[in-house]
Amino acid sequence: MSVIERPTLDVERIRQDFPILAAKARGHDLVYLDSAATSQKPSAVIEAIHRYYAEQNSNVHRGLYELSELATEKYEAARATVRSFIHASDSHEIVFVRGATEGINLVAQTFGRATLKAGDQVLITAMEHHSNIVPWQMLCAEKGALLKVVPISDSGELLLDEYARLLTPRTRIAALAHVSNALGTINPVREMIEMAHSVGAKVLIDGAQAVPHLPVDVQDLDCDFYVFSGHKVCGPTGIGVLYGKAEILEAMPPYQGGGDMILSVTFEKTTYNRPPYKFEAGTPHIEGAIGLAAALTYLEGVGMAAIAAYEKDLTAYGAERLIEVPGLRLIGTARNKAAVLSFVLEGVHPHDIGTLLDRQGIAIRAGHHCAQPVMERFGVPATARASLSFYNTPEELDRLQEALCKVNEVFGR
Ligand code: PMP
Repeated sequence: MSVIERPTLDVERIRQDFPILAAKARGHDLVYLDSAATSQKPSAVIEAIHRYYAEQNSNVHRGLYELSELATEKYEAARATVRSFIHASDSHEIVFVRGATEGINLVAQTFGRATLKAGDQVLITAMEHHSNIVPWQMLCAEKGALLKVVPISDSGELLLDEYARLLTPRTRIAALAHVSNALGTINPVREMIEMAHSVGAKVLIDGAQAVPHLPVDVQDLDCDFYVFSGHKVCGPTGIGVLYGKAEILEAMPPYQGGGDMILSVTFEKTTYNRPPYKFEAGTPHIEGAIGLAAALTYLEGVGMAAIAAYEKDLTAYGAERLIEVPGLRLIGTARNKAAVLSFVLEGVHPHDIGTLLDRQGIAIRAGHHCAQPVMERFGVPATARASLSFYNTPEELDRLQEALCKVNEVFGR
């Protein structure tokens, strides 16, 4: 049994930061392998949220008293933490939203609606999450535009020749996953963004599965928009980030109307606030932003480069162990992969795999992972998916492998 020989992280110590990892599941030590759905939260995040409500709670941007100033300061400091984490050039390029899904819908409904004309094209890929398909479909239907799709290879890599071919002067927007949630493929987005720019298209990157696993630098990527969700990066649910280049956000019409997104309102005319406030109507998710900042500060403390290196080894180790299981086929074997092991087991429905693993205290996901076109591409109705994080260990993957062998026994293999 070859375990990772030189762990680049002190994972045992890291695990102590996550209270839930000490939990039991069905009488066994919990093995949590569903971080692509949502990550677990370290005490630093839980405590930051507690502290906010115990000591700092007030509404932001409005009050003239000390507590409201404090809450505003914390909320805006959270924006600055996000800016630095993804290396945006200015905090005003960071819009707080509910999650990756809302970030994409915001761009489709504002930038997209204002830009797209009949006959224009939006380019996505065959490995997108439904959140990066449906908002564009809705937009294209409204505008009479065409949705084009970049196909993928048998190993789950994008066909870049096809991508180049599909990019035309009619392409207004390319919306691309940085990392696929169903396959784990890390796409060469930097190169793809450059290619899209060369035909004059703007690019939105769906980073929901990238920000938890890789260092991300939006200026280096030169993307026009980048979205991710707080709950997948050790932060709370209900908060996420839309990054947009300043000049593009400036030119975009607002998303929702309400408080905070205005400078002045009369019945005759409303003047809008500047970005990001223009896109943050109503009382924001203050606690969420503060919790997200605590999460990003925690991840920075561990080190994103160290996390990426450790998870790369762990994913490779997991793949090695899984293919030892008789009848198991990995779905998604790209050369450059992050933290996702999707698989099918001959003769066993993925839902049965999930249920039988649960009985052994192992939490994985089974289904289409909100990426039905990926399932169709690989000719399967669903997959079982173990998704990893830096708090997982090789020993947990050994337990997964042993448990899968037991699943096989139940099915008479
Ligand atoms: N894109 C990708 C690649 C995802 O994995 C997910 C979540 N599974 C989303 C978008 C949507 O994220 P959320 O539900 O947090 O908005």
